[in-house]
Amino acid sequence: MRRFPEPIQHLMAAFARLPGVGPKTALRYVYYVLKQPTADAELMAHALQHLHGHIHICPECFTYTETEICDICKNSSRDHNFLCVVEESRDIATIESTDVYKGCYHVLGGLLNPMDGITAETLHIRELIDRLRSSSTITEVILALPSTIQGETTMLYLAKRLSEFPIKITRLARGLPAGASLEYADDITLGSAICGRQQT
Ligand SMILES: [Zn+2]
Repeated sequence: MRRFPEPIQHLMAAFARLPGVGPKTALRYVYYVLKQPTADAELMAHALQHLHGHIHICPECFTYTETEICDICKNSSRDHNFLCVVEESRDIATIESTDVYKGCYHVLGGLLNPMDGITAETLHIRELIDRLRSSSTITEVILALPSTIQGETTMLYLAKRLSEFPIKITRLARGLPAGASLEYADDITLGSAICGRQQT
């Protein structure tokens, strides 16, 4: 690839470290930033500089938070009987946007994938077990993990590890997306939707 002025190369290398961004896209981002007013670029740089200094991990649920304990963990009006296990912090925002779930969360920080070196020890599984041991309120753990090979493996592993507790272990229902036609559904999704049918 042809050489670019050093500041462009530096920013390009930084953008190229983002997930799903290759060198061409990284260069496109650099040119985009160059076209913006200096004040906008400074605002972006300022936000990046302050990110690590102002965000840390909640010691209870392991989500990213600005306060010592996150807003959900310290909120006494949340239902502390329910604990929803998610892969990453971003999943909490997705579930919260449904406005259906009022319980608490536990972020694993990934999914089991021994090929990539992600084992039970590298995830927040030990902390989940400690949390269940010390809790007198949790009656149900909802495994809200993706229906992928890694997600299924992690849910199987957790269901086995958590079986020592006298609590209900559930997982999200699988079914058809809203507005979807049956003819476009794959066999597994349609099969799950038939098995998980509900009375109207
Ligand atoms: Zn928390």
